[in-house]
Amino acid sequence: MEEVGTGLLDRLDAMQRVAASAPGGPLLIVAGPGTGKTRTLTHRIAYLCAEMNVFPHRCLAITFTRRAAEEMRARLDALMGDGAQDLTVGTFHSIGLTILKENAKAAGLGAGWRIADDTERTAAREQAGDDDAAYIKLLRQQDLVDLDDLLTMPVALLRDEPALVDRYRRQWQWIFVDEYQDVDDTQYELLRLLSPADGNLCAIGDPDQAIYSFRGADVGYFLRFNQDFADARLVRLTRNYRSSAPILAAAVQAIAPTSLVSGRRLDPARVNPESPLVGRYFAGSTADEADFVLRTVDELVGGLSHRSLDTGRIDSRAVAPGTLSFSDIAVLYRTDAQSQAVVDALSRAGVPVQKRSHNRLRDRPGVQVIAQELRNAGSGTLAARVKQAAQVLAQRYAAPTLDAEQLAPEDVWTAADLLMPLARRTGDDLTDFLQEIATGAEVDALDPRAEAVNLLTLHAAKGLEFPIVFLIGCEDGLLPLRWPGGKPTDDEIAEERRLFFVGLTRAQDRLYVTHAARRFRHGSEREQSPSPFLDAIDPGLFERIGDAVPARPKDRQLRLL
Ligand code: ATP
Ligand code: MG
Repeated sequence: MEEVGTGLLDRLDAMQRVAASAPGGPLLIVAGPGTGKTRTLTHRIAYLCAEMNVFPHRCLAITFTRRAAEEMRARLDALMGDGAQDLTVGTFHSIGLTILKENAKAAGLGAGWRIADDTERTAAREQAGDDDAAYIKLLRQQDLVDLDDLLTMPVALLRDEPALVDRYRRQWQWIFVDEYQDVDDTQYELLRLLSPADGNLCAIGDPDQAIYSFRGADVGYFLRFNQDFADARLVRLTRNYRSSAPILAAAVQAIAPTSLVSGRRLDPARVNPESPLVGRYFAGSTADEADFVLRTVDELVGGLSHRSLDTGRIDSRAVAPGTLSFSDIAVLYRTDAQSQAVVDALSRAGVPVQKRSHNRLRDRPGVQVIAQELRNAGSGTLAARVKQAAQVLAQRYAAPTLDAEQLAPEDVWTAADLLMPLARRTGDDLTDFLQEIATGAEVDALDPRAEAVNLLTLHAAKGLEFPIVFLIGCEDGLLPLRWPGGKPTDDEIAEERRLFFVGLTRAQDRLYVTHAARRFRHGSEREQSPSPFLDAIDPGLFERIGDAVPARPKDRQLRLL
């Protein structure tokens, strides 16, 4: 037994190996943050194909984002070489698209069908008013489908057509789903149709990182996996390769009150008695909070002082100064509005920042107009046509108008740069190119090589890791988030706590949590108290940094008013 496939499984720990080499049948892998989910899933696929006579073309691996799919594909290529070519790896939407392409006629679509772009969708919405059925009809009359259709239409087809179900079950006998805690009703139904109750379905995920219920995800599907899929085998991964022991201890305590994983634990793979505690900074104001981030970045990366800062203090307890670069640092926050003060403070001091905001290509300014323009224009390679279209549009937008929404020529050129790699990747097929954009090709605004501090929302930080993490705005009303007059339900608070857990577990070596005593929110300056989520963490795990900084004269004045 030991020698079977040892080569492949060598790079896994004992439990990862159990998961990777488990026999067929339903398999649920409950795995906490930093326990190597992608590593385990890719090694399982490689192992089954290399050692268990599973054919790659019988395997379907599903992820939620294109970025995750691309990463999985790259790792499988590295592990399996040419064999990986026959695997189907994609997002739920791309799998849906594949099924729809193969059955367009049965779905009632004409030969020239395609995915509607934003303009076409908006037009149909406006014409249909509130009538969802009418909206779909309008699209269908033009042989258009929208993004939801990429899942609902294949589900409807399979539901009505047992022969089709049989066909796809024969085709994809092994199914692997990453981040299973995030499936929604339609994705779940698709999986139920594609996999028999005793099928070779392997789902991996962490219910405590379910943070997408606002988008329809339902962690309930994860929790009842072993009811849905007969005699499911359960494997847990608890060894964390990412974070220091104090960070992990704080994270586990933070999630404990409403953890969805019984006996939740995370064991640090590396234990270093020198690991610093979790830094906790009591800021007077948001400006003070931003200053703290700047000062600490300066201490960690070093070399800024001569440029713009008057602090020369080096914190000897931190990671050795000078060994870190800006890109090792992430600042995480609950709402995008919180990022401004930090961006301002860092930029003023000459610290480069990169922010991830819209990560869908089609949401970027300029992308839609270029896509439209491409339908009219030219010949030549797609890349050349993108450039042509950008030239035409940049000229058009060079003339100023009173339209506040109008694009600037720079937007068009930036969009053209973003579209180029996709144009090269899709070859010269315009239809594929436009479908990629419509189905949500992502631009990763975070360039891992860029020498800049990363700023991201907690949602955008999911799945990532950084040596140094600041989780700012750990305040009641932000974590958990509360709108004026709104009162979150218990379920919503539990989801906010999971978001907090996701944030804490992004950190490898050094984690700072900060909160400000006063913050400008919803149009006025408000007194803020620390997040109740912090109360779940043993105070002994925190190192309190600085004292509550006295309010600045300006702030004091505001307060008196
Ligand atoms: P998350 O839930 O946050 O997405 P994850 O389970 O996907 O976490 P990974 O990002 O896959 O975790 O792994 C975390 C880190 O641990 C990575 O840097 C990975 O290379 C490393 N790692 C995973 N397994 C091992 C192992 N057996 N030996 C050494 N390093 C490992
Ligand atoms: Mg992951």
